[in-house]
Amino acid sequence: MRLPVLNCDGCIGCCLEQSSPPGYAALLPERPDRADAARADPQQARWFAAAPEEAVALIRAHTRSPRRGEPGPCVWLDLQNRRCRWYECRPRSCREDVNPGDRACRYWRERYPPEPS
Ligand code: SF4
Ligand code: SF4
Repeated sequence: MRLPVLNCDGCIGCCLEQSSPPGYAALLPERPDRADAARADPQQARWFAAAPEEAVALIRAHTRSPRRGEPGPCVWLDLQNRRCRWYECRPRSCREDVNPGDRACRYWRERYPPEPS
């Protein structure tokens, strides 16, 4: 029997293949489909709007990089300190699609075991 996972201490597993905060590229000011994306998920648009320009610039740079479309660490991830740099502004997918101890979490933790704290 597995013990439940209670928190994210030492773990960044679910951020290591996202490449960029999921769904936020569609909300970049220059995107023609921005209004549609904002209408589809107004709360997501509010979280995005709260992100500082530095955070938005990283998403923009990622959309123009050869890395785009490939799995890799999220551009908002601070690998050294093992945390999301703009956690309060993270998108819906990061808030709802994986939570400590759920099935998705266990998948990522098996793929990328957390460092002991
Ligand atoms: S994989 Fe689970 S424990 Fe690790 S950061 Fe994501 S939600 Fe937290
Ligand atoms: S936005 Fe933050 S929580 Fe979401 S994948 Fe990127 S680093 Fe992880």
